[in-house]
Amino acid sequence: MSYTGPEFDPPHLRRSPRRRTLAVALAALVPGALLGWLAYEALGGSGDGGPGRVTEAASSGQASPSGGADGDGKPAAPVPPSATASAPAGTGSLKGKVVVIDPGHNPGNAEHTAEINRQVDVGTHRKECDTTGTSTNSGYSEAAFTLDVAHRLRALLQRQGATVRLTQDADRPYGPCVDERARIGNAAHADAVVSIHADGSGSGNRGFHVILPGEVHEGAADTRAIVGPSRDLGKLVAADFGRVTGSAPSNYLGDGTGLVTREDLGGLNLSTVPKVFIECGNMRDSKDAALLTSGAWRQRAAQGISEGIVSFLRG
Ligand code: ZN
Repeated sequence: MSYTGPEFDPPHLRRSPRRRTLAVALAALVPGALLGWLAYEALGGSGDGGPGRVTEAASSGQASPSGGADGDGKPAAPVPPSATASAPAGTGSLKGKVVVIDPGHNPGNAEHTAEINRQVDVGTHRKECDTTGTSTNSGYSEAAFTLDVAHRLRALLQRQGATVRLTQDADRPYGPCVDERARIGNAAHADAVVSIHADGSGSGNRGFHVILPGEVHEGAADTRAIVGPSRDLGKLVAADFGRVTGSAPSNYLGDGTGLVTREDLGGLNLSTVPKVFIECGNMRDSKDAALLTSGAWRQRAAQGISEGIVSFLRG
């Protein structure tokens, strides 16, 4: 276990002026979404994640439930966060719109089990602050996956002019807790929040699903105002994610719709702004894992999510 977290060199310090120049030159030549991808590649953001180191934690986890955002409890192998692309603030169609991206888990969670097992109030009940997330069988962690997709998605949305905030960027030792993740979106008055995950279900279970908030009104949880717009957001994200990645909706949840409604997730129950989760695939299935560990596929995943968000925000 050698995750170095806060000491890990900020990616921008590793960029050479020559690479920045290349990115700027590309920016002058290529429009739109392709530009975002090329700039990201030029800045060293792709790096096919490939399998990370397998640690003792990765092979000693408890059995995972059949699926679900906070139920995929396999400990994750620590993988340093990928380089990020810091796209300049855009002036596109999303100017004035605020998007919060919530990368599920945190690479440091596995080393802070006491802290993340602390119970927090999610309105309907109490549950763990956060979980470690799952990993592929070869040790590529969900936490590394969610951060990488989040960075790609941020670059794409910033190109469109959106203000984008991440709930965590491996810039804290663990967490945030699920209740704080919700509060970050609320405090930002986000127009849309997407929580990024990959599932830890059984082999043979494949495909993506988007999780929508169910209607809950209990304690601090009141989703009545966001159920409708969150469903709109989720349908658009699911449709565009499927189209751009070519992945099929989950074959084990959602009856082929790619949509699942849940009332037990604190990150959704405590949200006061439109919010969905996306489980991009099943890390424990070898065919899905081959996709999830591909940088090119993760770029398509980010593109699909981005297009769904853009459609939602343009109304
Ligand atoms: Zn997860």
